[in-house]
Amino acid sequence: MFIKDITVDGYEKIIEVEDKSTGLHAIIAVHNTNLGSAVGGTRIYPYAHRDDAFNDVLRLSKGMTYKSALAGINFGGGKSVIIADPSKKTPELLRGFGEFVESLNGKYICAEDVNSSTADMKIISEVTNNVAGLEGDGGDPSPLTALGVFSSIKVTAEQKLNIPLNELTVAVQGVGNVGGGVVKHLTSNGAKVYIADVNQTALKELAEQTGAEIVSSNDIMTIESDIFSPCAMGAILNNETIPNLKCKAVVGAANNQLATNEDADLLLEKGILYAPDYLVNAGGIINVHFERSKEGYDVKKAQNAAVAIGDTLLEVYAIAEKENISPTVAADELAEKRLALKK
Ligand code: NAD
Repeated sequence: MFIKDITVDGYEKIIEVEDKSTGLHAIIAVHNTNLGSAVGGTRIYPYAHRDDAFNDVLRLSKGMTYKSALAGINFGGGKSVIIADPSKKTPELLRGFGEFVESLNGKYICAEDVNSSTADMKIISEVTNNVAGLEGDGGDPSPLTALGVFSSIKVTAEQKLNIPLNELTVAVQGVGNVGGGVVKHLTSNGAKVYIADVNQTALKELAEQTGAEIVSSNDIMTIESDIFSPCAMGAILNNETIPNLKCKAVVGAANNQLATNEDADLLLEKGILYAPDYLVNAGGIINVHFERSKEGYDVKKAQNAAVAIGDTLLEVYAIAEKENISPTVAADELAEKRLALKK
């Protein structure tokens, strides 16, 4: 297996492999290990061009450094991409990838991500121990992610909007693993919740279970609510959608909600409080952290850490207010401070 080193300013280590015998073409980017081994998912995707994969792995690995630092976890930031059609992944390809991970001697720990599953991680673990997200350890991270989102909504409502949960109205876009959990937390605390999803069966089931009110996918972003909670796909906050929002704050789980950095300022100008997504949805990485802890997975400690996301969010809001910057910029500043402390 021929592994090529690539140097990019600001990144600790980047390696690429093209292995004819297994068909593996993959890149691992380790952005920063100031806080510990770099942890981040393995994305399997049929990128049209190798450079698209390269740019993705750079951007995502840096994002992981900031996510873990802000969540107060001693993990560094890393990510990997396998350039392949996910329907054609084979055990040989995954084992080849495991060898590639192993070549970094623990500097990078892979986990499930887009198009890679816990079953894939199990195969990878046959050749390397540097794998997280295995079935039976921490298990599905979604409940912890949902708890972190709920905690973020709670502090935003109570401390920034001065609305108690039993008077709060929330519009939730996407009621999958995370969104469904968020809706259950909210309704059991007396909030009025609107829900939308493209999956009508999941919607009806959840509405019956929780009393949440179904609205159409077209209306969920423009319905009058205190908080809009995006829990489906990314880039939904952009210059077309932001002017039509009728909420006081946006607090949700979806990754990369802002289409561009400028959209954070657009929200600020419109007076809508924005809770940075990578902080709000850090429950997933917190779960991995506890899964890998030497003492074994402790559900109570993991839950407390997810709830504490709310405290960090209040810290971010306070910095943003004091410095008259968007919470997104404030979150990056706080993450950088935590990274520097550990240098
Ligand atoms: P999921 O696939 O279980 O749920 C997503 C839901 O969104 C599905 O029910 C889907 O039908 C719905 N959806 C898709 N397109 C939609 C649309 N146009 N309008 C309304 N609904 C739509 O995914 P999940 O695990 O719940 O994750 C949700 C988001 O949170 C994703 O962006 C994910 O990257 C992010 N996230 C998840 C975790 C985790 O622990 N699962 C951690 C961090 C971030």
